[in-house]
Amino acid sequence: MTKVSETKPIKGHCPTCGDEKWADTVGHYNEYSSDIRDGIWVSIDHRILKCRGCDAIYHQTDRVFSEDMFYSQNPETGEEEYDYEHDVKHWPAPNKRPRPNWLERLPAVDTDLYKLLNDVYSALDIDLAVLAAIGVRTTFDRGSELLGIDSSLTFSEKLTQLVDKGFAGATERDALSVMTEAGNASAHRGWRPSSDQLDTMLQIIEAFVHRNFVLRTDVTELKNAVPAKPPRKPKNPST
Ligand SMILES: [Zn+2]
Repeated sequence: MTKVSETKPIKGHCPTCGDEKWADTVGHYNEYSSDIRDGIWVSIDHRILKCRGCDAIYHQTDRVFSEDMFYSQNPETGEEEYDYEHDVKHWPAPNKRPRPNWLERLPAVDTDLYKLLNDVYSALDIDLAVLAAIGVRTTFDRGSELLGIDSSLTFSEKLTQLVDKGFAGATERDALSVMTEAGNASAHRGWRPSSDQLDTMLQIIEAFVHRNFVLRTDVTELKNAVPAKPPRKPKNPST
């Protein structure tokens, strides 16, 4: 282990503050292996980092492989130079999609709904696109069940009931239909959506969950907070 005082601060992706943040190395281990016959080697620096901004502790690996090099030309001397490529990864994995600020309100609504949606974000963070798409569909299932829609119905029937009961409009019905079809394709045919396609699916499920489980509560609270209109004074017939 390396003492903090012996190391210079380095930059890492803090799980709280974001990328390119200064951190101290509070633990270090170098894993090295080589093949003498072929002259190739791999070096992995494992670092436990402590963010200088928020004190968060996280793990960084810096992997260098002897055969992965990039070449450049020195602008002053014109000579060709080379350097090793560094494959830097962090754990916890940096968030690929920012969590909506209302996410932490969901446990009060339903822990399963919260866990399902949270798992979708976790799958996105580590590029598990197929599992994220399946998770979106399952989150929709749980959400519609909470709204009183019979879980044994087909997706099409669920969507019809959601519209009939006022939980979704006609336009949203189309969006939810495309989203569930996409989730089905991943679940049954292993379809892997692109990041843009996943982004669209996330926008649809976030809008559905937010409107039905967060905004409704806010609207009710707002309604109760607005002072009632004072009763109108009767008009004086003499004026
Ligand atoms: Zn931080």
